[in-house]
Amino acid sequence: MVKKLRRFPRELLEVFPNLQPPLPQNSEQLKLRGKRNGKEREISPNEALQGYCFTFDYLNGLQKGKRTVVLRKLLSRSDVLIGQGPIVVEVGCDCQDQGCNWKGENGRCDWDGLDLVMKISFPAAGRVPEDEIIRDLLNLAVDQHSWALNHLPKLLCSFTVRFGDDSIQKRLKMELGDEIYEERVIRGSIQEKIFHIEQVKSDFEEAQVVYDAFQCHEWVHDVGRILHRDISMSNVMFRRIEGEVYGVLNDFDLATSIDDLDRTPTSKHRTGTRPFMAHEQHDVDWNGPPRYRHDAESFFYLILILGCDYSNPGTKLDNPPFQLWYNGGDEYLAAKKHSLLSNGKFLPPTKRTGYLQWLTEIQSCLFWGFQALNQVHHKALREKARKPVRLEGANNDELTVEAFDQATLGENFTADKIRQVFRRFDNRVVITRNPAREYLNIQS
Ligand SMILES: [Zn+2]
Repeated sequence: MVKKLRRFPRELLEVFPNLQPPLPQNSEQLKLRGKRNGKEREISPNEALQGYCFTFDYLNGLQKGKRTVVLRKLLSRSDVLIGQGPIVVEVGCDCQDQGCNWKGENGRCDWDGLDLVMKISFPAAGRVPEDEIIRDLLNLAVDQHSWALNHLPKLLCSFTVRFGDDSIQKRLKMELGDEIYEERVIRGSIQEKIFHIEQVKSDFEEAQVVYDAFQCHEWVHDVGRILHRDISMSNVMFRRIEGEVYGVLNDFDLATSIDDLDRTPTSKHRTGTRPFMAHEQHDVDWNGPPRYRHDAESFFYLILILGCDYSNPGTKLDNPPFQLWYNGGDEYLAAKKHSLLSNGKFLPPTKRTGYLQWLTEIQSCLFWGFQALNQVHHKALREKARKPVRLEGANNDELTVEAFDQATLGENFTADKIRQVFRRFDNRVVITRNPAREYLNIQS
């Protein structure tokens, strides 16, 4: 990974038509940073882009033209290889507070006082751009839905850059292989800087961030009719407003309109960040459709890893029990997750009491849900073999594969059930944000 990052600036320079080396004054600073006690030192990967300038087409109300940003610290955590996760880098306006062309209402630079990042991703050219999805969601977050604004990314502008050079497309094709190669574009956006969940200050803040992202995800699904499809530790983030944490559901690069799912090729259904993917999605024969409950299952793996691999927010244990999940293959992850979900004696390997309770209760919803699903499949098979079998349980006679509610695993794994768990952590009220559900905030 480090090796990839080291060659990363050169790669970026090849790919970005508009990326320019540091200006003379910036390169002086760069040289100073590159020396310690008069000796040359190696510049760390997250400093590698500092001082570079990037120019793109910008639209600010009526004003339109080329705008240049200066790159600062590289923040992305994903493996930075073209075609994989996004690149996120701190940026500032190149005016650096001196006579900006892009004036806000107060006559100063319109980005004055803002902490910004530039996010660059390389999606397939045919995909709905992330910024379009976010903009649609932001437009819906009005009136009784305005609470959701605190939990969505803040987008300032976005742009698309087409690969101009044939050799880059050729190189991508070589790097990605013919099978997964698709025509890709460079999509970029300038967004407000938000923070990684590892940077919260307490268990309780962490719990609030998770519950907020969950609430936002449900709203995005029900009101926005968008399925996020990539719940992971990198995409559940937070911002502070007057000192208080607000969880943010970030990164809609893989999000899909629920109403368009029928038109998505089934080969595109198996997607997400591996340790957090729903267990069914590791099966090569799984053809979807992706549902709300798959993302909800990802929230379970999120709290599993947060609660069990970390002793405190941001502090990883020496031997994290789920460390192998990060590099595990589909077969490994499918088996591990399956045995976890079907374990009637599941005891979460954590000493953090809030998580112990959350994990026990959510695993229980999933356990009963998959038991029920298994039962209807079993029953259907036996009936096919003309060997009717009497099953235990109340409405067994009516239980058929067709009648079974796949979306909620027979109502065992619903947003309401998960909410009943997340609204309390260590006997404290975790804030429910939707004003229509304010009654949940009363300590009982
Ligand atoms: Zn400026």
